[in-house]
Amino acid sequence: MGKEQVREKIERLRNELEYHNHRYYVLDDPAVTDREYDLLLRELIRLETENPEFADPHSPTRRVGAAPLDAFSTVQHTVPMLSLQNAMTEDEVRDFHKRVVKVLGTGDVEYVMEVKIDGLAVELVYTDGAFTLGSTRGDGYAGEDITQNLRTIRSIPMRLRSDDVPVPERLEVRGEVYMGKKEFLALNEERELTGEPLFANPRNAAAGSIRQLDPRITARRKLNVFCYAMGRITGMEFSTHMDFLLNLQKWGFRVNPYVRLCRSIDELIGHYRYIRSIREEMPYEIDGTVIKVNRTDYQFDLGTVSRSPRWAIAYKFESREETTIIEDIAVSVGRTGALTPVAYLKPVTVGGVEVSRATLHNEDEIARKDVRVGDSVIVTRAGDVIPEVVRVIDASRPGRGGPFTMPPACPVCGEPVVRPPGEAIRRCVNISCPAQIKGTIEHFASKRAMDIDGLGTKLVEQLVDRGIVRDVSDLYLIGKDTLAGMERMADRSAQNIIDAIEASKRRPFSRFIYALGIRQAGEHISGLLAERFRSIEDLMAADIGTLIAIPEIGPEAASSITAFFADPKNRGTIERILSAGLILEYEQHEGKKLSGLTFVFTGSLSSMSRDEARIRVEGLGAKTASSVSRKVTHVVAGEEAGSKLDKARQLGIRVLTEREFREMIE
Ligand code: NAD
Repeated sequence: MGKEQVREKIERLRNELEYHNHRYYVLDDPAVTDREYDLLLRELIRLETENPEFADPHSPTRRVGAAPLDAFSTVQHTVPMLSLQNAMTEDEVRDFHKRVVKVLGTGDVEYVMEVKIDGLAVELVYTDGAFTLGSTRGDGYAGEDITQNLRTIRSIPMRLRSDDVPVPERLEVRGEVYMGKKEFLALNEERELTGEPLFANPRNAAAGSIRQLDPRITARRKLNVFCYAMGRITGMEFSTHMDFLLNLQKWGFRVNPYVRLCRSIDELIGHYRYIRSIREEMPYEIDGTVIKVNRTDYQFDLGTVSRSPRWAIAYKFESREETTIIEDIAVSVGRTGALTPVAYLKPVTVGGVEVSRATLHNEDEIARKDVRVGDSVIVTRAGDVIPEVVRVIDASRPGRGGPFTMPPACPVCGEPVVRPPGEAIRRCVNISCPAQIKGTIEHFASKRAMDIDGLGTKLVEQLVDRGIVRDVSDLYLIGKDTLAGMERMADRSAQNIIDAIEASKRRPFSRFIYALGIRQAGEHISGLLAERFRSIEDLMAADIGTLIAIPEIGPEAASSITAFFADPKNRGTIERILSAGLILEYEQHEGKKLSGLTFVFTGSLSSMSRDEARIRVEGLGAKTASSVSRKVTHVVAGEEAGSKLDKARQLGIRVLTEREFREMIE
């Protein structure tokens, strides 16, 4: 590159970084990921170092943050609030240590490692122990006066404690204002409901909340703070950073608990790994750790260079956000029949893993984010979860594709799909859909359903992949030789499975309904259906009105059940199962001893557990309830019976002692 080209490149990078600084620090709405920003900045630093003749004191490499907004009054910082150098790798941390050793002339250096909270830096000023002034970092030299907003954060002491520490005349403390993960999600959820734009991450949410002109809005945002650094302090000195942190606590500040004094680089790296391993569990976002030289005289000797101190470095985690392009959007069908739109991406490495697909969740999410083929988007991958498209970067870009629409039929089996009222997800309800068949069979064979012992995931996979089983009815046609031909299948195990399949031909009606895997029809609802309908034919013919009339069955369950039986593929499968010789055991309600009665149990029974008692009465045709109402006919009162007993008496319901109850059931 010629000198002129270098100058142009430097100029371009400076402009670009200025633009991103404005979006990030002033608008709280970044246009690129932090990683991309950091790469641009690194590139500029490199070019400026190699070409010192183009140095400029106004370059983004020399400045932090952005100038304070006019809307607030300006606060000059007595001691500049700087940025931090960044290390991305272990080697860079070791290089940092080498530089420290070189300047100090000794290798005997202790470090403090703290977590790097992803929020925004503020300064709190105390005069004679009272909180008098609070400001943002701004451009490092001057920030915005946000005193009134900071007063709304409960963990900021309004007055310093002085029980066992002296209180300096003036104390300047720095810390990080942040929003917890839960609070961030709740805030975005609320904004989604009211149609306000969502915050990209907790940091932007915290920054947007603390820089409100109306402190009442800030007060509602549930912000918090951790303090970790000093500005000017009159009349007091600290020999180490640790010592200072201890004092902060005594004055009543919130100090992060994951601080550690480390005597070697290996110890630092060990602690970094530990912090990284618990990152997901922390209730707030952290983007790395901060390493600080512990002795304050050493800090003074090391001093600062342009925009950051030489005695500290941020040791960051790998970025979990990247930018890439959507090449296609397709729909996948999950094991439960849910249709999920998936974005096919230009491959990109996120947090050390190559990502080429990301979930778009459902059609409402796509519409909300307005994601289209050809868009530049930010993708994240947090922990072990599936990568996700967070948002579109430049939605005004010309040449993007049209809005995405979901297919009306299942892309795997071609059956029409159903979107139940009130749900965001479309589903294929065909239980023999190849995308769902393995899940369907496993559920059908599970213990609480048809209880086919030995028919596990591995075997189901082989049976389906080899085309032996295409729907559950095929299970009843498998011969022993076919089974014995499967991988790792001994003759004896094959016979056991054949026996188990045979045994499953006699099962109570309620378990068969449950085994079909109808959405919303779990064990309880299946039990209610078996009670109400005399045969599978009756159930299949039931309309929504009949189903809703059954107590405890709501409109969603009713519509899911009718949609299931309306599907011709499902009807065909059921017919084939029945013709394979299945004998459903329909219940004989009338003849049962306790039919028509409803029991509630309160207190503890001495001869059986409450669960056992419940099962016993249900076996005798009675119903059970968890609370007392007029529908309840008997309340069984054990030891230390509680308020249910009082309620039963109020309503005049028959109360049984444990002995009376036993006599009744035996
Ligand atoms: P920094 O975030 O890398 O580090 C300095 C900051 O760390 C301090 O100001 C403080 O707020 C914070 N911090 C948290 N815990 C701390 C602790 N225990 N001790 C000391 N400091 C602690 O530097 P920066 O100058 O604030 O900002 C640069 C960051 O902002 C980079 O990550 C950059 O990617 C991002 N950024 C992104 C964009 C964008 O467009 N995406 C634009 C500008 C900046």
